[in-house]
Parts: sequence; C-alpha cells; structure tokens
Amino acid sequence: MSPDTLSSDDFLDQAVVRLSLRAKRLVQRFPRSLTAAVILALAGFGVTAFGVAPLGIDTATRPQAWITESVTPDDLSVQIQSLANFDLPLFRNVITRPSDTAESLLQRLNVDDAQAAAFIRNNLTARDLLSGRGGKMVQARTNGSGALEELLARYPARRSDQIGTHFTRLRILREGDRFVARMEVAPLEARVELRSGIVSDSLFGATDEAGIPDSVAVQLAEVFGTEINFHRDLRRGDSFTVSYEALTADGEPVSWNQSARRLLAAEFVNRGRSHSAIWFQASDKGSRGAYFDFNGRGKQRAFLASPMEFSRITSGFAMRFHPILQDWRQHRGVDYGAPSGTAVRTVAYGVVDFAGWKNGYGNVVSVKHGKDRSTVYAHLSRIDVRRGQSIEQGSRIGAVGATGWATGPHLHFEFKVGGMQKDPSSIAALAEAVALTPVSGRELAKTTQSVRLQLDVAEGSSGAVSSFE
Ligand SMILES: [Zn+2]
Repeated sequence: MSPDTLSSDDFLDQAVVRLSLRAKRLVQRFPRSLTAAVILALAGFGVTAFGVAPLGIDTATRPQAWITESVTPDDLSVQIQSLANFDLPLFRNVITRPSDTAESLLQRLNVDDAQAAAFIRNNLTARDLLSGRGGKMVQARTNGSGALEELLARYPARRSDQIGTHFTRLRILREGDRFVARMEVAPLEARVELRSGIVSDSLFGATDEAGIPDSVAVQLAEVFGTEINFHRDLRRGDSFTVSYEALTADGEPVSWNQSARRLLAAEFVNRGRSHSAIWFQASDKGSRGAYFDFNGRGKQRAFLASPMEFSRITSGFAMRFHPILQDWRQHRGVDYGAPSGTAVRTVAYGVVDFAGWKNGYGNVVSVKHGKDRSTVYAHLSRIDVRRGQSIEQGSRIGAVGATGWATGPHLHFEFKVGGMQKDPSSIAALAEAVALTPVSGRELAKTTQSVRLQLDVAEGSSGAVSSFE
C-alpha cells in the first residue's frame, strides 16, 4: 500500500468517527423529525456502501446539507385542522385476494364508483388486475365523493426472463368522463432498509414490533446461531440493529417476494455482549459472498448450531434432556421439541451412512462428516435421504416425528467424535477459516466502517423507521 493510500485511509477513518459522533448527537436531538431523506443526507450512504464498493471519501462533505433541512413540524392538531379544510385527494392501499371481484376490490379501496367497476370488468388491459392468485399491490386515489381518479397496481412481471428483476405497473386513469388503462414493465430497485429493536419476550415479538420481515429475522438468528442460542439465551432488554436489502417497485417494498431480502449487516447485543455481522463479497473475480464480524473474522462454521432452522414454529421450543432418563451421561444427545413434520437439516456437509429403522431411535438418519465425526437424527416421521448420498450443510434430511422410543414428537440429535458421543452444543464453535486476500481485507474494513456508522445512526434513532435508496 502506498503512503498516499494510507493517508486517505486515515482521513477516512477520522471522517467516519467525526461523522458518527455528529450523527448520534443530531439523532438524539431530533429523534422523531428525522425523515429518510435527512438520514440519507446525514449519513451519505447508498446501496453501494455494501458489497464490493467501499464508502466514498465524499461522505465527509455531505452532512452539511442536513442542518438547513431540519424543520420543526407544526403542532399535530394544526396539521389535522389544515387537512380537514381542503378537499384533498384520498389514497388507500390494499393487496388483491384470489376471490376479489371488481366490486369487492373497489370496496376495500373505499372507492364508490360503478363506472370504474364496469371498466375493470370489461376493459382487456384493466381486467388483468383480477387475474391470477391475488397478491397485487394496489393503490387508489379518489376525489372527495369516492369516485375513482386513478388506480395503480404493481405485481410480478410475467416474462420468464424478467421474473425477480422487473414488475408490472398497471395504471387506470380517469380522463374526463371515461377511463383509460395502461400497462408497463419496469425494473425492480434494491433499497437498503434499517431497523432496530429491543427484545421483550421473543425474537419474533421484537422483529414484528420493528417491522422486520420474517425472512430477515430468520437470517438474523442463523447468522448469530453459533454465538447466541436464540432458544435459551435471549434476555429482556437485548437489542439489535439490522440493515437488509429489499426489492422495491416505485419505492414500495414488494409484498410478493419476501425471500429476496438479504440481511446485509447486523449488530446484536445479548446479555450486554455485542455480536456483529456484515455481508461481504470481495470484488475479486469468482469470490463468493459471506458473513464476517466487524473485526474481519469469517462467520461461516463447519457445523450449524441447530438441526432445525430457527423459525416462528421452532422458536418457542427449548432444547431439553430426555423425558425419561433425565440424565445427560446416559442420554448423550439433545432433544428438540417441535411439531411433527418440522423440517430437519444436516448440520454439516457429509455422507449419509445410515437411513432407516433402528430400535429405540425409530426412523433415524446418521451422517458422516469427514474421518471421525458423525451426527444422528432420530424419531423422524419421514426420511428424505438415502444411504451413500452426499449432502450439503443445511439440506433437508427428513422431518420431526415420534417414531421409536419417544413420548411425543421431538428430534433426538447426537454428535459423535470417533464413535464417542459428545456434547452437541460444543460443536458449533468449531471454526472454518475463510481466506481473504489483503486487497479484499482492506475492502472489507472500509465496508465495515460505513456499515457501523449506518447501524449507529439507526440505533440512535431509537427504533424510528428509516430507509433510503
Ligand atoms: Zn432423546
């Protein structure tokens, strides 16, 4: 690295620290009047702060716009009063249902307009609104008497090469005494969402409160799964901040594809200890993305923390000792209570060395990992793998059941080294090195700086929803 690079890195460091302090102070001063635009101006982030592109040096110059933009809003009663004095257009948003008719949809949109209903039923373009399985995002604008002025629907693109990248925009517009309908296809846009929350009883309780989608909550539990046991270790007052990527159509997060939301970064404070994660993909050709902590250590592990994905279904079920023996040394496994049919996954890459029935175990799968390690999954209601099959970490091998010696549906899980049973809770800590080149290491460090700043801002705004493009 040349001296020039060094000094600009140093400058960046200082700029980020200064900016972070300033951001925190300002956020504390004006917690509720922050708008997305203000946070954007304040922090100078963009989507490019993540992934391959390091934070640009011009970040330090952007916050100056902030002060002039902060406005104390009018007293709420004044605002409501002024709303009441105008015949403002009214907006309403709904999601279409498979059973919707033109009438039922318009009714839920608070539109009282028989001519509009007839148009939606009869116009070739407009009637696409009611085709398919529902799930279309619809927004209607009416005049004061409930007549439709404009209806806008957004839903997945149909062309196979545009699914997941584009959306359909259907617009129905009043033009004088008639309606017209137009359909377009436009690209979906990625947007970074920032949320923070505090645990009061459960992870999903807290993520619901913070408006975080389930798919992101599950990624959060998975990425910290080897450090925090979300079944046992959560405490009231634990806090977290997350940023994730959401796909948007005209700025609205799409409702039809939740799984397209990747967790980009997170900080989780559990029992006073802070844990961090950041998604990073080096710009080197062919490098794969992975999660790292803020100190640059890879978070990928050879063994997953749990043989079941953390979910709304499994979150309430604790690990427990065997209900009959009550003795760890005799039992030598962990029982996970869970409803019959819950998916069971292998905790590591391996080869299936047994799949079938064994006394006591019922339907059981055993997987060999390398030379001397193996895992056992028992009492299954179904088995989805064959003996000799190679399986990737996290792939489904069967489902929870109550076969064999089981008093109720649960997964009996064992971990063996050299044929000897070991405490499974110790295996998740086994590290798997992820090598980064020096260049990628520097890229990661810069990305981490900008992300930490961003999470600080979100955390400082105490749960206020903030998002920006
Ligand atoms: Zn058991």
